[in-house]
Amino acid sequence: MNPFVVKYVHWLVAASIAMSIIASYGAFSFAERVASSKGARSLAWLSGGASAMGLGIWSMHYLGMLAVQLPVEVVYYVPTVLASLGLAVFASAVALALVSRERMGWPQLAIGSLLMGGGIGGMHYIGMAAMRSSAMHRYSPPVVALSIIVAVVFSYMALWISFYMRNNPAQQEWLRMAGAVLMGCGIAAMHYTAMSAVTFFPGGMIYDSKDTVRVTTLGLAGVVLTTCLGLLGALVTAFLDRKKYRALQASIDELRTLSIQDALTGVFNRRYFEETFIAEWKRAARTRRPIALLMVDVDCFKMLNDRYGHTAGDECLRKLANTLVEEIRRPGDFIARYGGEEFAIVLPGANAEGSLRVAEAMRVSIQALKIPNEDSTAGKFVTLSIGVCSTRPSANESAMEMLEAADAALYLAKARGRNCSQLSADLTPMKVQMDDGVA
Ligand code: GH3
Ligand code: MG
Ligand code: MG
Repeated sequence: MNPFVVKYVHWLVAASIAMSIIASYGAFSFAERVASSKGARSLAWLSGGASAMGLGIWSMHYLGMLAVQLPVEVVYYVPTVLASLGLAVFASAVALALVSRERMGWPQLAIGSLLMGGGIGGMHYIGMAAMRSSAMHRYSPPVVALSIIVAVVFSYMALWISFYMRNNPAQQEWLRMAGAVLMGCGIAAMHYTAMSAVTFFPGGMIYDSKDTVRVTTLGLAGVVLTTCLGLLGALVTAFLDRKKYRALQASIDELRTLSIQDALTGVFNRRYFEETFIAEWKRAARTRRPIALLMVDVDCFKMLNDRYGHTAGDECLRKLANTLVEEIRRPGDFIARYGGEEFAIVLPGANAEGSLRVAEAMRVSIQALKIPNEDSTAGKFVTLSIGVCSTRPSANESAMEMLEAADAALYLAKARGRNCSQLSADLTPMKVQMDDGVA
Protein backbone atom coordinates (compact mmCIF):
# COMPACT_ATOMS: atom_id res chain seq x y z
CA MET A 1 0.00 0.00 0.00
CA ASN A 2 1.57 3.29 -1.07
CA PRO A 3 1.34 6.13 1.48
CA PHE A 4 -0.15 9.46 0.44
CA VAL A 5 2.30 12.13 -0.52
CA VAL A 6 1.60 14.91 1.99
CA LYS A 7 1.84 18.44 0.60
CA TYR A 8 1.75 21.67 2.58
CA VAL A 9 0.29 25.03 1.66
CA HIS A 10 3.28 27.17 2.54
CA TRP A 11 1.56 30.38 3.48
CA LEU A 12 -0.68 28.51 5.88
CA VAL A 13 2.42 26.95 7.48
CA ALA A 14 3.88 30.44 7.86
CA ALA A 15 0.58 31.69 9.27
CA SER A 16 0.50 28.84 11.80
CA ILE A 17 3.97 29.78 13.06
CA ALA A 18 3.06 33.47 13.26
CA MET A 19 -0.10 32.55 15.14
CA SER A 20 1.75 30.62 17.81
CA ILE A 21 4.27 33.45 18.28
CA ILE A 22 1.45 35.99 18.71
CA ALA A 23 -0.33 33.71 21.17
CA SER A 24 2.87 33.14 23.16
CA TYR A 25 3.48 36.87 23.33
CA GLY A 26 -0.02 37.44 24.67
CA ALA A 27 0.31 34.55 27.10
CA PHE A 28 3.65 35.70 28.50
CA SER A 29 2.42 39.28 28.78
CA PHE A 30 -0.47 38.11 30.93
CA ALA A 31 1.53 35.60 32.96
CA GLU A 32 4.28 38.12 33.71
CA ARG A 33 1.85 39.91 35.99
CA VAL A 34 0.87 36.88 38.03
CA ALA A 35 3.76 37.33 40.48
CA SER A 36 3.25 41.06 40.99
CA SER A 37 -0.46 40.79 41.80
CA LYS A 38 -2.42 38.98 44.48
CA GLY A 39 -5.52 36.84 44.95
CA ALA A 40 -8.26 37.06 42.36
CA ARG A 41 -6.31 39.44 40.21
CA SER A 42 -3.34 37.11 40.09
CA LEU A 43 -5.65 34.24 39.19
CA ALA A 44 -7.19 36.34 36.42
CA TRP A 45 -3.76 37.02 34.92
CA LEU A 46 -2.93 33.35 35.11
CA SER A 47 -6.23 32.39 33.44
CA GLY A 48 -5.57 34.92 30.69
CA GLY A 49 -2.07 33.57 30.19
CA ALA A 50 -3.17 29.93 30.18
CA SER A 51 -6.09 30.63 27.81
CA ALA A 52 -3.88 32.51 25.38
CA MET A 53 -1.21 29.84 25.54
CA GLY A 54 -3.61 26.89 25.26
CA LEU A 55 -5.60 28.49 22.47
CA GLY A 56 -2.38 29.38 20.72
CA ILE A 57 -1.14 25.80 20.77
CA TRP A 58 -4.54 24.57 19.68
CA SER A 59 -4.95 27.09 16.84
CA MET A 60 -1.44 26.46 15.66
CA HIS A 61 -2.28 22.78 15.40
CA TYR A 62 -5.47 23.16 13.39
CA LEU A 63 -4.03 25.86 11.19
CA GLY A 64 -1.12 23.49 10.60
CA MET A 65 -3.62 20.75 9.72
CA LEU A 66 -5.40 23.15 7.37
CA ALA A 67 -2.06 23.54 5.61
CA VAL A 68 -1.92 19.78 4.95
CA GLN A 69 -3.35 18.71 1.62
CA LEU A 70 -4.63 15.15 1.64
CA PRO A 71 -6.46 13.63 -1.32
CA VAL A 72 -9.32 12.56 0.94
CA GLU A 73 -11.79 14.57 2.97
CA VAL A 74 -10.88 15.00 6.64
CA VAL A 75 -13.21 16.02 9.44
CA TYR A 76 -12.67 16.29 13.19
CA TYR A 77 -14.67 14.81 16.01
CA VAL A 78 -15.74 17.73 18.18
CA PRO A 79 -15.56 16.19 21.70
CA THR A 80 -11.96 15.09 21.10
CA VAL A 81 -11.14 18.50 19.62
CA LEU A 82 -12.45 20.13 22.79
CA ALA A 83 -10.53 17.68 24.95
CA SER A 84 -7.34 18.64 23.10
CA LEU A 85 -8.05 22.30 23.83
CA GLY A 86 -8.77 21.54 27.48
CA LEU A 87 -5.49 19.72 27.88
CA ALA A 88 -3.52 22.54 26.25
CA VAL A 89 -5.10 25.17 28.52
CA PHE A 90 -4.67 23.03 31.64
CA ALA A 91 -1.02 22.19 30.97
CA SER A 92 -0.29 25.86 30.19
CA ALA A 93 -1.99 26.94 33.42
CA VAL A 94 0.10 24.63 35.59
CA ALA A 95 3.32 25.42 33.74
CA LEU A 96 2.75 29.20 33.87
CA ALA A 97 1.72 29.02 37.54
CA LEU A 98 5.03 27.34 38.29
CA VAL A 99 7.29 29.70 36.41
CA SER A 100 5.50 32.92 37.26
CA ARG A 101 6.18 32.63 40.97
CA GLU A 102 8.10 35.46 42.51
CA ARG A 103 11.02 33.21 43.28
CA MET A 104 11.64 30.73 40.53
CA GLY A 105 14.58 28.35 40.44
CA TRP A 106 15.61 25.69 37.99
CA PRO A 107 13.34 22.94 39.47
CA GLN A 108 10.23 25.02 38.73
CA LEU A 109 11.67 25.87 35.35
CA ALA A 110 12.39 22.23 34.58
CA ILE A 111 8.98 20.96 35.72
CA GLY A 112 7.31 23.91 34.00
CA SER A 113 8.93 23.10 30.67
CA LEU A 114 8.18 19.39 31.00
CA LEU A 115 4.53 20.26 31.57
CA MET A 116 4.44 22.82 28.81
CA GLY A 117 6.21 20.52 26.34
CA GLY A 118 4.05 17.61 27.43
CA GLY A 119 0.95 19.76 27.04
CA ILE A 120 1.91 20.80 23.53
CA GLY A 121 2.66 17.17 22.59
CA GLY A 122 -0.46 15.81 24.27
CA MET A 123 -2.62 18.39 22.56
CA HIS A 124 -1.15 17.45 19.22
CA TYR A 125 -1.69 13.71 19.50
CA ILE A 126 -5.17 14.06 20.95
CA GLY A 127 -5.91 16.49 18.12
CA MET A 128 -4.70 13.86 15.66
CA ALA A 129 -6.95 11.29 17.30
CA ALA A 130 -9.90 13.56 16.53
CA MET A 131 -9.27 13.11 12.80
CA ARG A 132 -11.92 11.25 10.86
CA SER A 133 -11.25 10.31 7.24
CA SER A 134 -11.18 7.35 4.94
CA ALA A 135 -7.38 7.33 5.27
CA MET A 136 -5.40 5.55 7.99
CA HIS A 137 -2.35 6.92 9.69
CA ARG A 138 0.62 5.30 11.36
CA TYR A 139 3.33 6.77 13.61
CA SER A 140 7.07 6.28 13.79
CA PRO A 141 7.71 6.00 17.58
CA PRO A 142 11.27 7.48 17.60
CA VAL A 143 10.10 10.58 15.73
CA VAL A 144 7.14 10.90 18.11
CA ALA A 145 9.59 10.85 21.02
CA LEU A 146 11.76 13.41 19.23
CA SER A 147 8.75 15.71 18.77
CA ILE A 148 8.09 15.71 22.53
CA ILE A 149 11.77 16.41 23.27
CA VAL A 150 11.69 19.33 20.83
CA ALA A 151 8.64 20.75 22.62
CA VAL A 152 10.24 20.42 26.07
CA VAL A 153 13.56 21.95 24.99
CA PHE A 154 11.92 24.94 23.30
CA SER A 155 9.62 25.44 26.29
CA TYR A 156 12.62 25.41 28.59
CA MET A 157 14.43 28.08 26.58
CA ALA A 158 11.32 30.22 26.20
CA LEU A 159 10.35 30.06 29.88
CA TRP A 160 13.94 30.70 30.91
CA ILE A 161 14.17 33.84 28.78
CA SER A 162 10.75 35.19 29.71
CA PHE A 163 10.52 34.37 33.37
CA TYR A 164 13.97 33.65 34.69
CA MET A 165 15.28 36.84 33.12
CA ARG A 166 12.31 39.01 34.06
CA ASN A 167 14.33 40.82 36.73
CA ASN A 168 16.09 42.65 33.98
CA PRO A 169 13.71 45.58 33.46
CA ALA A 170 15.88 47.38 30.92
CA GLN A 171 15.67 44.45 28.52
CA GLN A 172 12.12 43.40 29.42
CA GLU A 173 10.47 44.16 26.10
CA TRP A 174 13.18 42.33 24.15
CA LEU A 175 13.16 39.36 26.49
CA ARG A 176 9.41 39.06 26.26
CA MET A 177 9.60 39.11 22.48
CA ALA A 178 12.50 36.65 22.33
CA GLY A 179 10.63 34.32 24.70
CA ALA A 180 7.48 34.55 22.57
CA VAL A 181 9.39 33.82 19.37
CA LEU A 182 11.10 30.81 20.96
CA MET A 183 7.84 29.51 22.41
CA GLY A 184 5.98 30.03 19.14
CA CYS A 185 8.70 28.35 17.11
CA GLY A 186 8.82 25.54 19.66
CA ILE A 187 5.11 24.83 19.30
CA ALA A 188 5.41 24.83 15.52
CA ALA A 189 8.62 22.76 15.59
CA MET A 190 6.86 20.16 17.75
CA HIS A 191 3.90 20.09 15.39
CA TYR A 192 5.86 19.70 12.18
CA THR A 193 8.26 17.18 13.70
CA ALA A 194 5.23 15.20 14.82
CA MET A 195 3.74 15.48 11.35
CA SER A 196 6.89 13.96 9.91
CA ALA A 197 6.32 11.03 12.29
CA VAL A 198 3.01 10.20 10.67
CA THR A 199 2.30 8.44 7.40
CA PHE A 200 -1.15 8.48 5.79
CA PHE A 201 -2.39 5.50 3.82
CA PRO A 202 -5.44 5.20 1.64
CA GLY A 203 -7.71 2.96 3.70
CA GLY A 204 -11.25 3.17 2.49
CA MET A 205 -12.34 3.21 6.11
CA ILE A 206 -15.93 3.99 6.94
CA TYR A 207 -16.29 6.74 9.52
CA ASP A 208 -19.18 8.30 11.34
CA SER A 209 -19.49 12.01 10.52
CA LYS A 210 -21.77 12.72 13.48
CA ASP A 211 -20.46 15.56 15.69
CA THR A 212 -17.64 16.45 13.36
CA VAL A 213 -16.43 19.71 11.89
CA ARG A 214 -14.27 20.53 8.94
CA VAL A 215 -10.71 21.66 9.52
CA THR A 216 -11.42 24.96 7.74
CA THR A 217 -13.85 25.85 10.53
CA LEU A 218 -11.34 24.89 13.22
CA GLY A 219 -8.49 26.74 11.53
CA LEU A 220 -10.59 29.87 11.15
CA ALA A 221 -11.88 29.75 14.72
CA GLY A 222 -8.31 29.32 15.91
CA VAL A 223 -7.03 32.30 13.94
CA VAL A 224 -9.76 34.60 15.17
CA LEU A 225 -9.53 33.58 18.83
CA THR A 226 -5.75 33.62 18.96
CA THR A 227 -5.43 36.95 17.24
CA CYS A 228 -7.92 38.49 19.65
CA LEU A 229 -6.18 37.09 22.73
CA GLY A 230 -2.70 37.91 21.44
CA LEU A 231 -3.71 41.49 20.68
CA LEU A 232 -5.48 41.80 24.00
CA GLY A 233 -2.29 40.65 25.74
CA ALA A 234 -0.23 43.18 23.82
CA LEU A 235 -2.67 46.00 24.54
CA VAL A 236 -2.95 45.21 28.22
CA THR A 237 0.82 45.04 28.48
CA ALA A 238 1.32 48.31 26.68
CA PHE A 239 -1.30 49.98 28.85
CA LEU A 240 0.12 48.68 32.13
CA ASP A 241 3.70 49.38 31.11
CA ARG A 242 2.73 52.94 30.34
CA LYS A 243 1.04 53.21 33.73
CA LYS A 244 4.15 51.84 35.41
CA TYR A 245 6.27 54.24 33.38
CA ARG A 246 4.12 57.18 34.45
CA ALA A 247 4.34 56.17 38.10
CA LEU A 248 8.10 55.88 37.75
CA GLN A 249 8.29 59.28 36.07
CA ALA A 250 6.18 60.80 38.84
CA SER A 251 8.50 59.46 41.52
CA ILE A 252 11.53 60.68 39.58
CA ASP A 253 9.92 64.12 39.37
CA GLU A 254 9.20 64.03 43.07
CA LEU A 255 12.78 63.05 43.88
CA ARG A 256 14.03 65.82 41.63
CA THR A 257 11.81 68.33 43.42
CA LEU A 258 12.98 67.10 46.81
CA SER A 259 16.59 67.31 45.74
CA ILE A 260 16.36 70.96 44.67
CA GLN A 261 13.80 72.27 47.13
CA ASP A 262 14.35 73.70 50.60
CA ALA A 263 12.19 71.67 52.97
CA LEU A 264 11.30 74.52 55.33
CA THR A 265 10.41 77.32 52.93
CA GLY A 266 9.68 75.52 49.65
CA VAL A 267 12.01 77.78 47.64
CA PHE A 268 15.05 76.30 45.90
CA ASN A 269 17.87 75.01 48.05
CA ARG A 270 21.51 75.92 48.07
CA ARG A 271 22.50 73.06 45.81
CA TYR A 272 20.10 74.25 43.11
CA PHE A 273 21.36 77.79 43.59
CA GLU A 274 24.96 76.80 43.05
CA GLU A 275 24.22 74.79 39.92
CA THR A 276 21.86 77.28 38.39
CA PHE A 277 23.67 80.48 39.33
CA ILE A 278 26.83 79.26 37.58
CA ALA A 279 24.82 78.17 34.53
CA GLU A 280 23.05 81.57 34.36
CA TRP A 281 26.31 83.40 34.84
CA LYS A 282 27.87 81.53 31.92
CA ARG A 283 24.85 82.16 29.77
CA ALA A 284 25.07 85.87 30.56
CA ALA A 285 28.76 85.79 29.58
CA ARG A 286 27.91 84.09 26.30
CA THR A 287 25.06 86.42 25.39
CA ARG A 288 26.83 89.53 26.72
CA ARG A 289 23.89 90.41 28.91
CA PRO A 290 23.98 91.59 32.52
CA ILE A 291 23.10 89.39 35.46
CA ALA A 292 22.30 90.39 39.04
CA LEU A 293 22.66 88.61 42.34
CA LEU A 294 20.95 89.64 45.58
CA MET A 295 22.13 88.30 48.93
CA VAL A 296 19.38 88.77 51.50
CA ASP A 297 19.96 88.37 55.24
CA VAL A 298 17.42 88.81 58.02
CA ASP A 299 18.42 91.44 60.56
CA CYS A 300 18.93 90.29 64.14
CA PHE A 301 17.25 86.99 63.51
CA LYS A 302 19.00 85.50 66.51
CA MET A 303 17.06 87.96 68.70
CA LEU A 304 13.79 86.81 67.16
CA ASN A 305 14.63 83.18 67.87
CA ASP A 306 15.71 84.00 71.39
CA ARG A 307 12.62 85.98 72.21
CA TYR A 308 9.83 84.13 70.36
CA GLY A 309 11.29 80.66 70.02
CA HIS A 310 12.67 78.58 67.21
CA THR A 311 9.23 77.56 65.91
CA ALA A 312 8.25 81.21 65.50
CA GLY A 313 11.58 81.68 63.75
CA ASP A 314 10.75 78.90 61.30
CA GLU A 315 7.30 80.32 60.67
CA CYS A 316 8.87 83.72 60.04
CA LEU A 317 11.28 82.24 57.50
CA ARG A 318 8.37 80.65 55.64
CA LYS A 319 6.50 83.96 55.49
CA LEU A 320 9.59 85.77 54.31
CA ALA A 321 10.18 83.25 51.53
CA ASN A 322 6.56 83.48 50.34
CA THR A 323 6.69 87.24 50.25
CA LEU A 324 10.05 87.35 48.46
CA VAL A 325 8.81 84.92 45.82
CA GLU A 326 5.98 87.32 44.99
CA GLU A 327 8.49 90.03 44.16
CA ILE A 328 10.21 88.14 41.37
CA ARG A 329 8.30 88.07 38.15
CA ARG A 330 10.50 87.32 35.18
CA PRO A 331 11.07 83.86 33.81
CA GLY A 332 14.63 82.87 34.75
CA ASP A 333 14.54 84.82 38.03
CA PHE A 334 14.73 82.56 41.05
CA ILE A 335 15.09 82.58 44.79
CA ALA A 336 16.98 80.06 46.90
CA ARG A 337 17.58 79.60 50.60
CA TYR A 338 21.30 80.07 50.82
CA GLY A 339 21.75 79.40 54.52
CA GLY A 340 19.89 79.63 57.84
CA GLU A 341 18.21 83.03 57.40
CA GLU A 342 19.85 84.02 54.15
CA PHE A 343 18.32 83.97 50.71
CA ALA A 344 20.06 84.35 47.36
CA ILE A 345 18.17 85.78 44.40
CA VAL A 346 19.36 85.55 40.81
CA LEU A 347 18.00 87.98 38.22
CA PRO A 348 19.35 87.21 34.75
CA GLY A 349 19.30 90.27 32.49
CA ALA A 350 18.94 92.78 35.35
CA ASN A 351 21.26 95.80 35.45
CA ALA A 352 22.33 97.67 38.58
CA GLU A 353 19.37 100.02 38.57
CA GLY A 354 16.83 97.28 38.00
CA SER A 355 18.26 94.90 40.56
CA LEU A 356 18.48 97.61 43.20
CA ARG A 357 14.83 98.39 42.52
CA VAL A 358 13.88 94.73 43.06
CA ALA A 359 15.95 94.63 46.28
CA GLU A 360 14.22 97.73 47.64
CA ALA A 361 10.79 96.37 46.75
CA MET A 362 11.63 93.19 48.66
CA ARG A 363 12.93 95.05 51.66
CA VAL A 364 9.86 97.30 51.80
CA SER A 365 7.36 94.45 51.42
CA ILE A 366 9.01 92.48 54.25
CA GLN A 367 8.96 95.50 56.47
CA ALA A 368 5.27 95.91 55.65
CA LEU A 369 4.59 92.43 57.04
CA LYS A 370 5.25 93.90 60.48
CA ILE A 371 6.49 90.64 61.96
CA PRO A 372 7.48 91.57 65.53
CA ASN A 373 11.16 91.46 66.43
CA GLU A 374 11.22 93.62 69.58
CA ASP A 375 14.89 93.18 70.34
CA SER A 376 16.13 94.00 66.83
CA THR A 377 18.61 96.87 66.66
CA ALA A 378 17.07 97.86 63.31
CA GLY A 379 13.49 98.46 64.50
CA LYS A 380 10.49 96.78 66.11
CA PHE A 381 9.78 94.49 63.16
CA VAL A 382 11.61 91.98 61.03
CA THR A 383 13.76 93.71 58.43
CA LEU A 384 16.24 92.70 55.73
CA SER A 385 19.69 93.77 54.68
CA ILE A 386 20.43 93.14 51.01
CA GLY A 387 23.72 93.06 49.14
CA VAL A 388 23.21 93.70 45.42
CA CYS A 389 25.63 93.00 42.61
CA SER A 390 24.99 93.38 38.90
CA THR A 391 27.58 92.82 36.21
CA ARG A 392 28.17 91.85 32.62
CA PRO A 393 30.34 88.77 33.05
CA SER A 394 33.65 88.94 31.24
CA ALA A 395 36.53 86.54 30.75
CA ASN A 396 38.57 87.92 33.64
CA GLU A 397 35.79 87.47 36.22
CA SER A 398 34.16 84.41 37.72
CA ALA A 399 30.78 83.57 39.20
CA MET A 400 32.51 83.11 42.56
CA GLU A 401 33.86 86.66 42.45
CA MET A 402 30.34 87.89 41.85
CA LEU A 403 29.11 85.94 44.87
CA GLU A 404 31.87 87.44 47.02
CA ALA A 405 31.02 90.93 45.77
CA ALA A 406 27.36 90.50 46.70
CA ASP A 407 28.39 89.18 50.11
CA ALA A 408 30.69 92.14 50.64
CA ALA A 409 27.84 94.49 49.72
CA LEU A 410 25.61 92.71 52.26
CA TYR A 411 28.29 93.19 54.90
CA LEU A 412 28.36 96.91 54.04
CA ALA A 413 24.57 97.10 54.35
CA LYS A 414 24.82 95.58 57.85
CA ALA A 415 27.56 98.03 58.70
CA ARG A 416 25.41 100.93 57.49
CA GLY A 417 22.92 100.04 60.22
CA ARG A 418 20.84 97.21 58.60
CA ASN A 419 17.39 97.47 56.94
CA CYS A 420 18.86 98.72 53.67
CA SER A 421 20.10 97.61 50.23
CA GLN A 422 23.68 98.14 49.18
CA LEU A 423 24.92 98.01 45.59
CA SER A 424 28.35 96.46 45.12
CA ALA A 425 31.07 98.62 43.59
CA ASP A 426 33.56 95.77 43.48
CA LEU A 427 32.85 94.32 40.07
CA THR A 428 33.66 96.42 36.99
CA PRO A 429 31.52 99.37 38.03
CA MET A 430 32.11 101.00 34.61
CA LYS A 431 30.23 98.21 32.96
CA VAL A 432 27.49 98.41 35.50
CA GLN A 433 27.18 102.13 34.70
CA MET A 434 26.99 101.38 30.99
CA ASP A 435 23.99 99.05 31.35
CA ASP A 436 21.35 100.17 28.98
CA GLY A 437 18.04 100.04 30.66
CA VAL A 438 17.55 96.28 30.81
CA ALA A 439 16.03 96.17 34.22
P1 GH3 B 1 22.49 89.96 61.69
O1 GH3 B 1 21.56 91.13 61.64
O2 GH3 B 1 23.89 90.36 61.86
O3 GH3 B 1 22.32 89.06 60.50
O4 GH3 B 1 22.07 89.14 62.99
P2 GH3 B 1 21.54 87.69 63.04
O5 GH3 B 1 21.11 87.43 64.41
O6 GH3 B 1 20.46 87.51 62.00
O7 GH3 B 1 22.78 86.90 62.54
P3 GH3 B 1 23.38 85.52 62.88
O8 GH3 B 1 23.96 84.94 61.63
O9 GH3 B 1 24.32 85.67 64.02
O10 GH3 B 1 22.16 84.63 63.33
C1 GH3 B 1 21.39 83.90 62.46
C2 GH3 B 1 20.50 83.07 63.30
O11 GH3 B 1 19.54 82.44 62.52
C3 GH3 B 1 21.23 81.96 64.05
C4 GH3 B 1 20.22 80.86 64.13
O12 GH3 B 1 19.75 80.74 65.44
C5 GH3 B 1 19.10 81.31 63.25
N1 GH3 B 1 18.72 80.30 62.32
C6 GH3 B 1 19.44 79.76 61.32
N2 GH3 B 1 18.72 78.84 60.66
C7 GH3 B 1 17.50 78.80 61.26
C8 GH3 B 1 16.32 78.05 61.03
O13 GH3 B 1 16.23 77.22 60.13
N3 GH3 B 1 15.25 78.25 61.82
C9 GH3 B 1 15.32 79.19 62.83
N4 GH3 B 1 14.23 79.37 63.60
N5 GH3 B 1 16.42 79.89 63.08
C10 GH3 B 1 17.51 79.72 62.30
MG1 MG C 1 20.98 87.72 60.03
MG1 MG D 1 23.14 85.25 58.68
